Amino acid sequence: MSSLQPVRGTHDLLPDDARRHRKVEETAFACARRYGFGEIVTPIFEFTDVFARTLGETSDVVTKEMYTFADRSGESLTLRPEGTAGVARAFISGGLAQSLPLKLFYRGPMFRHERPQKGRLRQFHQVGVELLGVESPLADVEVIALAWRVLSELGLASKVRLEINTLGDAESREAYRNTLVAYLSQFRDALSEDSRNRLDRNPLRILDSKDEGDRRIVENAPLMSDSLSPAAREFFTQVTDGLHALGIPFILNPKLVRGLDYYCHTAFEFTTTELGAQGTVLAGGRYDELIATMGGPRTPGIGWAAGVERLSMLVGEVADEARPVSVIPMGDAMAAMVVAERLRRIGRSVEMGFSGNMKKRMARANKVNARFAVILGEEEAARNAVTIRDLDTSTQDEVPLAQLEEYLGRLL
Ligand code: ATP
Ligand code: MG
Repeated sequence: MSSLQPVRGTHDLLPDDARRHRKVEETAFACARRYGFGEIVTPIFEFTDVFARTLGETSDVVTKEMYTFADRSGESLTLRPEGTAGVARAFISGGLAQSLPLKLFYRGPMFRHERPQKGRLRQFHQVGVELLGVESPLADVEVIALAWRVLSELGLASKVRLEINTLGDAESREAYRNTLVAYLSQFRDALSEDSRNRLDRNPLRILDSKDEGDRRIVENAPLMSDSLSPAAREFFTQVTDGLHALGIPFILNPKLVRGLDYYCHTAFEFTTTELGAQGTVLAGGRYDELIATMGGPRTPGIGWAAGVERLSMLVGEVADEARPVSVIPMGDAMAAMVVAERLRRIGRSVEMGFSGNMKKRMARANKVNARFAVILGEEEAARNAVTIRDLDTSTQDEVPLAQLEEYLGRLL
């Protein structure tokens, strides 16, 4: 064990990464608030059942990816691999059925034991939303509009593409399942082992297979859209009409299925071609039976989750909004500390050099992208003044110490 290495698939966010990360999170939350969502913070671990029962016994997440452990009292706990199950659990245990509709935003780390690669980590972060208690397709439209707003405000509108599909209602899925199994069974021996196993337990998932051979077979598979009940078809039409009305571009992807068992009706993903194989940045769908499956009152729901690391990679450099002031003491360092404190008191961000000659300190001021340098030279000190240099224009003024806040306040 090399205990001083980060655990495989985890990473540290150093200040530049963390700033990008925050920007993604804050943008998502600010947009969500505009759509009437409030934040929910649920625990990072839950009883294993919360995930095992809801995500589906055959889903990849449950069969291969969960971080499950027995705690000191022998209770089986799992680090959350996604956010929806925990929110649904909170809804049930908190008795929130009285306060529908409910609009919830969450953010934070998720844990999946996957093969780490670019854009695929074992501890990663998501932002996500859930809208509970609305049966109408208008909810689907609003939740997708929110996703589009977040991506647009992050400057990613031209880099992502919305793909959408319907998984229909229970009746449509049952009909489709039969049609699909009949088709795929002809190729049983040619299917990958994973897909052969799914044929009986979860055939829809085969549509999502990454295996080349599977993909060729799936190419000609019958489509969900041919098995839709009139009601499910009408529901989906209203969703796509709504997207048209709001001017949100999308493409229909009849092969789009989601990895987890609890989805019905609308399924969607925002994908990009700029991140290689890990191209899905945001994904979601409707889950009308999830809460009932968990033992709560039947409550329709729709939501999505976005991968913060993948979005951060697309967003690129994010500058610190407020450029600091560099305070540069040439004589009395404690006097400089007092000046720095005065500026921080009025809300300025101040970089205070601890050592070095003038040249080194000016280099440092440039490195931190300071807007102004406040130089405390010995001569000015004798006059109870400081020099304030505008680092963009290289002009400078001598300013009486007593007018420091006023002078900088006018400029910044
Ligand atoms: P993928 O197909 O990439 O495995 P998924 O279907 O497992 O994704 P979801 O459970 O829908 O993903 O999670 C929503 C989003 O969270 C994904 O679109 C992705 O951006 C992000 N995400 C999921 N798993 C990881 C991971 N291991 N590392 C980083 N981001 C992830
Ligand atoms: Mg996955």
